[in-house]
Amino acid sequence: MTQPENQPKHIVLIGAGIMSATLGVLLKELNPHYRISIYERLDQIAAESSDAWNNAGTGHSAFCELNYTPETESGDIDIKKAVKIASSFEISKAFWAYLVKAGYFANPEAFINNIPHISFVWGEENVAFLKARYEALITHPLFKGMEYSEDRETLHAWMPLVMDGREPQEKVAATKVDIGTDINFGNLARVLFQHLCSLPRVEMHLMHEVRDLKKQEDGQWKLKVKNLITKEKIKVTADFVFIGAGGGALPLLEKSDIEEGRGYGGFPVSGQWLVCNNEAVIQQHNVKVYGKASVGAPPMSVPHLDTRLIDGKKALLFGPFAGFSTKFLKNGSYFDLPLSIELDNIIPMLSAGWHNMSLTGYLIQQATLSHEDRVEALREYFPAAQSEDWELAIAGQRVQVIKKDEEEGGVLEFGTEIIHAADGSIAALLGASPGASTSVGIMLELLEKCFPHEMQSKTWQKKLKQMIPLYKKVFKGKEKEWLDWRRYNNGVLHLSD
Ligand SMILES: Cc1cc2nc3c(=O)[nH]c(=O)nc-3n(C[C@H](O)[C@H](O)[C@H](O)COP(=O)(O)OP(=O)(O)OC[C@H]3O[C@@H](n4cnc5c(N)ncnc54)[C@H](O)[C@@H]3O)c2cc1C
Repeated sequence: MTQPENQPKHIVLIGAGIMSATLGVLLKELNPHYRISIYERLDQIAAESSDAWNNAGTGHSAFCELNYTPETESGDIDIKKAVKIASSFEISKAFWAYLVKAGYFANPEAFINNIPHISFVWGEENVAFLKARYEALITHPLFKGMEYSEDRETLHAWMPLVMDGREPQEKVAATKVDIGTDINFGNLARVLFQHLCSLPRVEMHLMHEVRDLKKQEDGQWKLKVKNLITKEKIKVTADFVFIGAGGGALPLLEKSDIEEGRGYGGFPVSGQWLVCNNEAVIQQHNVKVYGKASVGAPPMSVPHLDTRLIDGKKALLFGPFAGFSTKFLKNGSYFDLPLSIELDNIIPMLSAGWHNMSLTGYLIQQATLSHEDRVEALREYFPAAQSEDWELAIAGQRVQVIKKDEEEGGVLEFGTEIIHAADGSIAALLGASPGASTSVGIMLELLEKCFPHEMQSKTWQKKLKQMIPLYKKVFKGKEKEWLDWRRYNNGVLHLSD
C-alpha cells in the first residue's frame, strides 16, 4: 500500500500570491505526485499585496523594526520576538538558497538584494531606548555586526538626506546592519510559480475567481469557480484547499463554514506611499531607515524612508500612511467589509472597534492628510524634502484579524494566523505581519497542522533536512551552525555576510 506521504492528492491553492507560491513549491518538492491547481481572480500573478509596489519589500529580520523589541515594565528590552523573526527569515533564505542551488532559478538579484537596515531616533528618551536595544541585541549572534552611533558625522555618512538640515542641538542616534535586505516579493512569487508550473500535474488558472466551497460527505471539497473571461461556472473537487487569497481569505473562510473559522472578523487598513520622482534625490539615499511609530499608530505604520530596488531600478519611498477603505483587496469591492459581517463575528467586530478607539482616531487623522501634511511628516526624516519631488502611490490592502475573546468580546490582532479544519483538509491564512519575509516558516507551520503524518514520515523529514537544514533546530547551543548556514545561504543568494 502507498504510504500517505507518497499518495497522490489534488491540492487547490486559491490566490497566486507569495504564500500560495511557497506552499505549492514546498508540497511539490515533498510529494511530486501531488496534482496542484491554482485559481487566481486577476489576470496576473502576485498583483495584490505581494507586488513590489504594494509592500515595503523589507526582508524582516528585526534589524531595524523597533516594534519587535518592546520595553518591558522593568525597563529591559525584550528581544524574544526579534530573535524569532530573525530566525524565521533565515529559514526563508535557506529555502530560497536551496531552490537557487537546485537550478530552479538563476538570478537571486531579481528578487533579493542587500540594502543596509537602519533604525533612527531623536530625543533623549528614544536615544536611551535605542542604545538599550542595541546593547540587548548585540549580545545575540544573529545581530552580530550591528553598529550604534550618536556621532553626527558617522550618521551623516550613513544617511546624508536624513542628517542634512537637522537641528544641531537635537539628540539623535541610529543603528545600522549592513546585511539587511530588500526583497521584490512579486518577482519571487513569479519565479516560484514559473518553476511550479513547469512541473507535471500543475495548472495555473488566471481570471478564475473562487466563489464558494463546501465540504462533501466523502471528505472532499467542492469549489465553485467562475471563469471571469467566458463567465462559465465550473466545479472543482479537491482533497486539500489552501485559502491563500490574502485580504480575500476571510470571506472564503466564512463560506467554507468550518467550525474553526467561526467568530473571525477582519478590519481593513489601506496603505499609501510618497514616491520620489527626483533622480538626484533618489541617488543620495542607499539604506532603509525605520523610525518609531507615532502614538495610536498600528505596528505596521512605522514610518520608513526606504531605498528599494525594483526590477533593477532604484526607487525611494516614504510611508506607509494608513487609510481606511472597506475593500479587503486593492482590486476588491467596497462591499467586502459589510458583507463579511455575520452573526458569529458581529460582537467580536464591535468589541474590537470599541477597544481600539485610538486606532480609529489615528486612521481618521491619516485619511484627512493633505499632500503638504504628508510631506511635513516626511521632513521629520528628510528635513530638506521638496513637495514637488514626491507623488502619492497606493500600497496594498491589509486585513487585520479580529478574534473572539472571552474577556473583551473581540480583539484586533496584528500578526498572521493559520486557521485549519481539525481534519487538515483546508487551511486559510489571515493577517499580514511579519508577512512575506517569513512565508516559508508560515507555510511549514501550515504543513505541520494539515499534513501531520506526512511531515513525520521519513521521506518528508529527509527532504525537509535537505531543503532547510535549520528547520526545527533551536538556536541556543547551535549558534555556530546557524551562522555557518547563514553565511552559506547569503553566498548562494549573492548577499554579503
Ligand atoms: C503596505 C504593506 C507593506 C508591507 N510590507 C512588507 C514588508 O516590508 N515585508 C514583508 O515581508 N511583508 C510586507 N507586507 C506583507 C506582505 O505583502 C504580505 O504578507 C504578502 O504579500 C501576503 O501574500 P499572500 O500571498 O497571502 O497575499 P496576496 O499577495 O494578496 O495574494 C492573494 C491573491 O489571492 C487572489 N484572490 C483573492 N480572492 C480570490 C478568489 N476568491 N479567487 C481567486 N483568487 C483570489 C488575489 O487576487 C491575490 O492575487 C506588507 C503589506 C502591505 C499591505
